[in-house]
Amino acid sequence: MTQILNKVYGSLIGGENIPSETQIPITNKYTGEVIASIAAASREDVEKAVGNAIKAFKKTKLTVQQRYEILMKAAAIFKERKEELAITIVRESGKVLKEARQEIDRGIQTFIASAEEAKQIAGTGIPLAGQPGNENKLSFTIRFPVGVIGAITPFNFPFNLTAHKIGPAIAAGNAVVLKPAEATPIIANKMAEILLEAGLPAGYLNVVNGFGKETGQYLLEDKRIAMYTFTGSPAVGQHIKRTTGIRKVTLELGNNSPNIIHKDVADLDRAAELCVTRGFYNAGQACISVQRIYVHEEIYDQFVQKAIAVAKTLKVGNPELEDTDIGPLISEKEAIRAETWIREAVEQGATVVFGGNRDGSILEPTIVTNVRPSMKLVCEEVFAPVISILAYSDIEDAFAQANDSEYGLQAGVFTSDLSLAVKAAHILDFGGVIINNVSTYRADIMPYGGIKNSGIGKEGPKYAIEEMTDEKIIVIDL
Ligand code: NAD
Repeated sequence: MTQILNKVYGSLIGGENIPSETQIPITNKYTGEVIASIAAASREDVEKAVGNAIKAFKKTKLTVQQRYEILMKAAAIFKERKEELAITIVRESGKVLKEARQEIDRGIQTFIASAEEAKQIAGTGIPLAGQPGNENKLSFTIRFPVGVIGAITPFNFPFNLTAHKIGPAIAAGNAVVLKPAEATPIIANKMAEILLEAGLPAGYLNVVNGFGKETGQYLLEDKRIAMYTFTGSPAVGQHIKRTTGIRKVTLELGNNSPNIIHKDVADLDRAAELCVTRGFYNAGQACISVQRIYVHEEIYDQFVQKAIAVAKTLKVGNPELEDTDIGPLISEKEAIRAETWIREAVEQGATVVFGGNRDGSILEPTIVTNVRPSMKLVCEEVFAPVISILAYSDIEDAFAQANDSEYGLQAGVFTSDLSLAVKAAHILDFGGVIINNVSTYRADIMPYGGIKNSGIGKEGPKYAIEEMTDEKIIVIDL
């Protein structure tokens, strides 16, 4: 991939590539070699980027048809350049090739759905006549773009999660200043270049690269930004909420996803395969990764054996090879953290029944049993290829354990009892409950977002557009 070698991605401001004195090297997460650099945006650069976004937003109002065409054209270019974009993700994030290709495909669909939703933005009629004294009023709402949106994205799905912010923001008619994750910024910078190539007026999408505590913080402190859309860790999410005052925020944060396998599960093999493959997808670095698996005691031993059998089939190693299933974590530091959590759990009585070893930033897919709710592997977000399997005898207890979490993004339940499925859907305190599939299930058009410390606001283009527009009421006195 000569095209990403040694390139320096400056800030993209008003369509121009702005260099900086400070550069941050971006490494191949498997080999460690430097593949490109980003210019760290200063406070002044961020102010310029926001200023340009405001200027573009005020100067050129994009019609719905223009937004649709730009987003569709960008989707077509992503499709043409799919392989190059997928390799970019593999190298800068360590994601395995087949998953990187899936991520590009999903991101393309996110852009297409955003284009389609641009055409559906509408207010509602308000039946004021139902209130005494308002018989002669005609009322309706209209939706309008909030203005300039600050978008801050994480490393783990650097294309599709950025698409979930940029696609709806443009579809709704907003201008954006994007701060991609410093570990995986190249793909987001390429996305921005492609959007400009697709006809997005310069200034509608500006990119400021750099560390969160510096460039990200400057973005939070710019009062001209109307709304922030953030995906990342709960700690940074809380910081953003505190810093941005009464401005709008959407926060997509973490989870320690529970999955319940009841004794009446229709297909135990399928449940085990889904739990293992979705627990280890992207080396476990997904906010809805299967993490805690509650299995009814009557099928527990069988489930554990089946899970181990599936784990044995997974190939670990070089993410650029076609058949690799699990690559490195984003950094060796993160792999050491997860390994430490496994060791701590073992010291407290847990049993590693598969994996558990680390080689640099690669952590073997790991299955742990005999865990307790107080162990970090259970009560915190692991964000590594580690799943824990726990037995239960009473389904009410399984529901209670699943809910015993500071998080509430998504949960999975396997049962062939329709009433129990509906009961689970009501009892489980999560933004989404997936029946007969795992917590990791996500279709990009569905409303997606958590409760509790998993965040506020929804994504999915239709729902993100609602967040990214304001509603104005019009009353006509007839
Ligand atoms: P992170 O919070 O460390 O970083 C996310 C982004 O925030 C990066 O761009 C970073 O530079 C920026 N940032 C950091 N400090 C900042 C500050 N002080 N001001 C402004 N910006 C700042 O998260 P990460 O490690 O990249 O991603 C992993 C986390 O993201 C996990 O907790 C995971 O669950 C969560 N996540 C959630 C979802 C979801 O949709 N709910 C999806 C993917 C990941």
